[in-house]
Amino acid sequence: MSAKKIPYKMYLSEEEMPKTWLNLKAFMPEQHEPFLNPATGKPCSAEELEVVFCKECVEQELNCTDKYIEIPEGIRNFYTNFRPSPLIRAYFLEKMLDTPAEIYYKFEGNNTSGSHKLNSAAAQAYYAKKQGLTSVTTETGAGQWGTALAMACAFYGLDLKVYMVKTSYEQKPYRKEVIKTYGADIIPSPSDTTEAGRKILAEFPGTGGSLGCAIAEAVETAVKTPNCRYVLGSVLDHVLLHQSVIGVESKIALDKYGVQPDIVIGCVGGGSNYGGLISPFMAEKLEGKNNIRFIGVEPASCPSMSRGKYAYDFCDSAKITPLAKMYTLGCEFMPSPDHAGGLRYHGMSPVVSKLYHDGYMEVKAVKQTDVFKAAEQFARCEGILPAPESSHAIKVAMDEALECKKTGEKKVILFGLTGTGYFDLAAYKQFNDGTMKDYIPTEEDLARGFASIPEI
Ligand SMILES: *Cc1c(COP(=O)(O)O)cnc(C)c1O
Repeated sequence: MSAKKIPYKMYLSEEEMPKTWLNLKAFMPEQHEPFLNPATGKPCSAEELEVVFCKECVEQELNCTDKYIEIPEGIRNFYTNFRPSPLIRAYFLEKMLDTPAEIYYKFEGNNTSGSHKLNSAAAQAYYAKKQGLTSVTTETGAGQWGTALAMACAFYGLDLKVYMVKTSYEQKPYRKEVIKTYGADIIPSPSDTTEAGRKILAEFPGTGGSLGCAIAEAVETAVKTPNCRYVLGSVLDHVLLHQSVIGVESKIALDKYGVQPDIVIGCVGGGSNYGGLISPFMAEKLEGKNNIRFIGVEPASCPSMSRGKYAYDFCDSAKITPLAKMYTLGCEFMPSPDHAGGLRYHGMSPVVSKLYHDGYMEVKAVKQTDVFKAAEQFARCEGILPAPESSHAIKVAMDEALECKKTGEKKVILFGLTGTGYFDLAAYKQFNDGTMKDYIPTEEDLARGFASIPEI
């Protein structure tokens, strides 16, 4: 057991902040299969990827050999705006659950974007600027990613166009104002500013849009605008690399107190926060140095891993992106609109998919009302109003702590609290009003999604 009394908040000093990211792929015995160009069926070359993405990010995307990659000073400088983030010992939650388990969570919601997404937004904006680009484009659904990227572009001096799914644009007017305050241009998608948007508007007038359509518009604009590239907030290997700062900081803080986690839990949407949180712990597991249990948590309404297929699929529903080998429900799988939180992505990070496929981690799917019950209990004792996405991890961390209560085991549980829920109050309202529903796709729903997986 640890000798020192563990404080409620374990802050690192700015000098203790990591100077390198951890490239988990370099520790993996086998790599995931490469991205394929759908036009040729061949692996995407760096040159092909560099038409769409920043050069340095493409290099990181394809790097499977360097275990540690330097975080440039220009990025560490911006990180000090909101990092190091606290690792919190959940004494209040432990007491409420009356569990012998020790619970820790890494809180990434302490910045205006309200989530971990700023870790990668900072890196991608920095590299875009360094390459001499003048603007970048992206899409946003719920808005955390759009906000994070707007903050990073304001800091580094880049123009940004954000295509926001029209339903979210209309439902979340305040999100929009935050993004505008940071100087980005925000366009409801589908729009008449792109061919992809005009085509969808002609076919489905009055549509509320989709992430797939917003991606198509953002990529088209990036490719057609001089000195412009597209940036993505999750799924890709370089995004996981940037998010490794979450795990590396967590490990430094735990090591200071001699604490070893037994279970590491996180929510998985595209897999970026979880891939980042687990990176140093999983690297040690792959080296045979620990036997930690890793649990990714997904919504029962969009069970990409627990009920998905491991196959090559498009990363977007418009079928314009490269094909990735990943767990997927099919690029045309439609998650229920009743589902409140994020984590509605049909696919999963190829790195996280490979780890799951090779048996290094487990996955649990949880129902939305159970998630909000956990969120409410957590908010009442720990004080933080959690994002619905993050609350998936809370739910399973609480279940594991209650299991310890039954068995009397004093396990150490670490989970990722990815963000705050201030822009998710419509979902909290549904929960409070008792009108929130649970949605679980039927076998027919899944079959319809699987039918959109291309045959390779
Ligand atoms: C985007 C987001 C997620 C899910 O994305 P991952 O890439 O799976 O990490 C989880 N929590 C919050 C708060 C988010 O904004």
